[in-house]
Amino acid sequence: MAFAACASCGAKVNVGKNPELGQRFTCPSCDDVMEVVWLDPIELDWPIDDDEDYDDYDDEDFEDDEDLEDDEDFEDDEEEG
Ligand SMILES: [Zn+2]
Repeated sequence: MAFAACASCGAKVNVGKNPELGQRFTCPSCDDVMEVVWLDPIELDWPIDDDEDYDDYDDEDFEDDEDLEDDEDFEDDEEEG
């Protein structure tokens, strides 16, 4: 298990056993995403290309139209004699 210094805060980031160039890790200290730019020694740097997809969830407005009508039918039982 190898560690590399975060380029942002200098904290040790666990890069696993066999880190690869371009592999990205998230610094546990500052939550910055670091990219492996060198393997010997292992160096981390900020990712160059920012092609991350940002997922924006739009809150949809739900309209609640509830018409509750209780129609009860009363049956009259007439005694037939
Ligand atoms: Zn950091």
